Amino acid sequence: MRIEIADYCIRCGICEDCYPDIYKRNYEDHCMDILVEEVTPDLEERVKGSIADCAVAAIRLVK
Ligand code: SF4
Repeated sequence: MRIEIADYCIRCGICEDCYPDIYKRNYEDHCMDILVEEVTPDLEERVKGSIADCAVAAIRLVK
């Protein structure tokens, strides 16, 4: 599985603040970078946490 962030992300940065090993603000391109290509089982719970924490539900897991 991998992470996708929808275009309607408001770039609040909460995901980076809580999970800086997974998300990073990209100030040049005005988007959020995803730092992990593949969501390994050990990361899955934290990614699900970030999905729950995103106020606009912009993060999702895709196969
Ligand atoms: S928490 Fe959600 S809205 Fe905020 S930057 Fe991350 S993906 Fe975007």
